[in-house]
Amino acid sequence: MQKTVGIPRALYYFQYGPAWRRFFQELDYPVVLSSPTDGKLIEKGAMLSVEEACLPIKILHGHVAQLCEKGVTYIFLPRLISLLKGSFTCPKIAGAPEMIQSAFTQRPILLSPSIRAGENPLTACYELGRELDRSASRVRKAWTVACENSGGPVEKRDPEALRVALLGHPYLLYDSGANMRLREKLEDQKILVCTPDEYDPEDLRERAADMTEKRIFWSTGEETVGYILALLDNEPKPDGFIFVTSFGCGVDSFILNVGQRLIQKKSQIPYLELSLDEHAGEAGFDTRIEAFIDMLERRRERGKSA
Ligand code: SF4
Repeated sequence: MQKTVGIPRALYYFQYGPAWRRFFQELDYPVVLSSPTDGKLIEKGAMLSVEEACLPIKILHGHVAQLCEKGVTYIFLPRLISLLKGSFTCPKIAGAPEMIQSAFTQRPILLSPSIRAGENPLTACYELGRELDRSASRVRKAWTVACENSGGPVEKRDPEALRVALLGHPYLLYDSGANMRLREKLEDQKILVCTPDEYDPEDLRERAADMTEKRIFWSTGEETVGYILALLDNEPKPDGFIFVTSFGCGVDSFILNVGQRLIQKKSQIPYLELSLDEHAGEAGFDTRIEAFIDMLERRRERGKSA
């Protein structure tokens, strides 16, 4: 029977998933993805994980459970320690492989190479190659192909549309199941949604570093602050910001405050905070978004007539 690599559609899959998939395919390992996040999967993940875990970690447990049921040979869950040189992921991200090991005693083999910004990514790839019985030259070639083919399509945008910038961790912003289809709901109303992936992370990081005396320790926190600065420095500016966060996130308890103060200091752009957990009700969530958009539209109209 052919061996397969399962990839959970969770955490940094939303940023690096296309490259990871291509890499394993180039090594002749069929990739099995867990299905998109939904209510049942969140419920299962919440049952399997420790009580104090945040929503993204509970969601990860749900995806891993599904891959176990699918009977994959391996599960790819890299140990992401830092994504940008000089800053780090939060302990729950770096410790995700250990959490999965302890929650799932009967499970496929975990592929968890350590990834640190500033180190040659091929080091982690060679480690995978040894585990998967592939030569170093083949691994090198697979990685080159994966990097060349990981870009997505460029979408056409209406410059007159209301612009809303989403702030937060990629696994909350880009996982429709986790954020109750926030992006789709905004786009259905013809709103132009801006997200941090439109910028080079290094550029965002430098902007944030220029502003603070001491470097922000966490990669996504630093990117979020840099992203706010980039949006406030460039034209056209967004009409509103929505910060998507998870209950119990230590990183966001600090970054939310910094972000909000920055927006208020440099602009009068409205700001909405949406906190998510497995109990969040969609009706209340939708009402808050609708009220926020309504307010942004009225502001835009007032600006036109002033
Ligand atoms: S940064 Fe926050 S939301 Fe992300 S894994 Fe850590 S605690 Fe959870």
